[in-house]
Amino acid sequence: MPREFSVARVRNIGIMAHIDAGKTTTTERVLYYTGKLHRMGEVHDGTTTMDWMPQERERGVTITAAATTCLWRDHKINIIDTPGHVDFTAEVERSMRVLDSCILLLCAVGGVEPQTETVCRQADNYGIPRMAFVNKMDRPGADFARVAEMMEQRLGSKPVALQIPIGAENDFRGVVDLVRMRAMVYDEGDLGEKYRVADIPDELQEEANAARDQLVEAISEYDDDLMHKYVEGQEFSVKDIQRGIRRGTIGGRMVPVLCGAALKNRAIQPLLDAVVDYLPSPEDVPVLKGLNPDSGKEEERAPRDDAPFTALAFKTVADPFVGRLSYLRIYSGKVAIGDTVCCSRSKKRERVMKILEMHANKREERKECFAGDIAAVAGLKLVETGDTVTSPRHPLVLEAINFPEPVLSQAIEPKTRADEEKMQEILRRLSEEDPTFKVKMNEDTGQTIISGMGEFHLDVIVERMMRADNLAVHVGTPQVAYRETIQNIVESEGKFIRQSGGRGQYGHVRLKLEPAERGAGNQFVSKLKGGVIPRQFIPAVKQGVQDALESGTVAGYPIVDMIVTLVDGSTHEVDSSDIAYRMAGSIAVHDGLVRGNPMLLEPVMAVEVIMPSEHMGEVIGSLGARRGRVDSTEVRGIMRAVRGHVPLAEMFGYATDLRSATQGRGTFVMELSHYEQVPLSVATELKVKQ
Ligand code: GDP
Repeated sequence: MPREFSVARVRNIGIMAHIDAGKTTTTERVLYYTGKLHRMGEVHDGTTTMDWMPQERERGVTITAAATTCLWRDHKINIIDTPGHVDFTAEVERSMRVLDSCILLLCAVGGVEPQTETVCRQADNYGIPRMAFVNKMDRPGADFARVAEMMEQRLGSKPVALQIPIGAENDFRGVVDLVRMRAMVYDEGDLGEKYRVADIPDELQEEANAARDQLVEAISEYDDDLMHKYVEGQEFSVKDIQRGIRRGTIGGRMVPVLCGAALKNRAIQPLLDAVVDYLPSPEDVPVLKGLNPDSGKEEERAPRDDAPFTALAFKTVADPFVGRLSYLRIYSGKVAIGDTVCCSRSKKRERVMKILEMHANKREERKECFAGDIAAVAGLKLVETGDTVTSPRHPLVLEAINFPEPVLSQAIEPKTRADEEKMQEILRRLSEEDPTFKVKMNEDTGQTIISGMGEFHLDVIVERMMRADNLAVHVGTPQVAYRETIQNIVESEGKFIRQSGGRGQYGHVRLKLEPAERGAGNQFVSKLKGGVIPRQFIPAVKQGVQDALESGTVAGYPIVDMIVTLVDGSTHEVDSSDIAYRMAGSIAVHDGLVRGNPMLLEPVMAVEVIMPSEHMGEVIGSLGARRGRVDSTEVRGIMRAVRGHVPLAEMFGYATDLRSATQGRGTFVMELSHYEQVPLSVATELKVKQ
């Protein structure tokens, strides 16, 4: 079956925004106008389609990256939902990887807010072209020009208006389209499906001319032909202007700015037109490169159907109907039901059982999907988020998505004992879907411990269990996920020998423990000479070592960044057993840890606080009091930004403190930066608590 839309007619976009800017409402309207929704849901009565999880509806926060497909003017637009909250780093990172461009949504009153800056920085890191939609033009205090100015000052982008608003606040009626120099007017009382095309109102004529001049000047900079016309004072055709905007936008040199009011159904269609006209197709973005694992050479995979199949799994979910679903961004080639594909990490082959395209209110089954597409595939049980999936004959490894280790843990138990099994099952499923969410059992206390990237992250997971799965749980106070490691190289010995009557037990190993670089993780190597220990027992030794690394000798936290080498040992003809070697491995690690000058490590967060300038002194002081270090300060209009590093353990309750110190005007964001040694005084306190 040939493809329905050529690659040039595909757009893979994200909508990024500060919480509350209207992302959910705008997405909903987009889906409505693209003809896939038959009724409009409102955020406040909890019937929106994108935010399908009940607690999201309640909070009005979009959390899970759902990819939704819609059609507009013979183009296929895949909307990959991106969360605005930094606790969902994994979600943001993985969606950034597969987007070609995005719509930056701003509130016409609030403009650029701290979270807007965070998402823009992330988008900058991935080089994602974007356009801006200034929403809520109907609100009192809405100011289109001011928002564009804030974009320039705070985001360092080059905003170029493609529209100017007609009326503002209660009187916002539509937009002047500066490309075609015409007015698009929405009448009161309908759902905004229709607008009237009219002449530019007299009172806006002058403003529109000036804005059009600015637009023409801006696009001339990127195009020699246009520059020539501009200098000669020639008229620009609509096609000229569109070509110029498209070039400037895709090249990341300008950010086109549009405006509207999603809630009032105004100016959504021109936004969709702009997505089609100005945002890149998969052909317009840099060609994907990866490493061929066989040759070790870099290879390119162009977005063509006749190229080898290459895709990135950017999300896996447990689906109630088809089991495990992997969301794939297909970079090159095509894949059909029944095809065998290969996962680059596990090197395992699996068969594609079903291909689904997710629409707002239904899923459509496909027989095949093509280069540039986003699709959900069933049947890939071994593929995990971040894996590259390719045709078996053309393996390729794309740069993996880096997910940070969780920094916060919390004990969790069901309110009713009978729910224990159900809870474990749900937790297992959630940790499979979210690489930054982990579940563990504390062997000593028998408690189940969940860990994640921040308080909000864990809150949302617990709420999700309560609502979606109807499971009531108790949670403990969140605890920082400390780690332990050693500072010196040591040799150690472990013996597990029981030889009193009957069949005995015999396990004996010698290990070398040495510190590795921060962030290197743990490693187990065997350097045994001859057959001092029969080969079949080595996995048991490794298992014993791993058991012991779960809990350190300083305060019982997991060991990281250590190389364990099996250097020697002995064996017994009759009594040697797996269990004895496993025990011996554990004993040897414990012995070595104690003598290796162990230390405690803590997560240190990169923190950015934004506050009115008069509170800067106080904020810097409070970070210092929290064992923090200020790295830089910056002027942002009337606000100041302070950047620094603070141990996570000191950040509990910071949101409340900052609010009261700044009369509610200060905000902050933080993310994991690295691990550092806990100062002795603090470590001693932690040991006492244990
Ligand atoms: P999100 O957090 O970015 O997904 O934002 P929502 O779509 O949930 O919107 C946040 C609030 O702003 C809701 O109460 C919406 O009804 C409201 N809202 C969204 N768009 C507009 C708009 O164009 N005008 C006005 N006045 N309110 C809006």
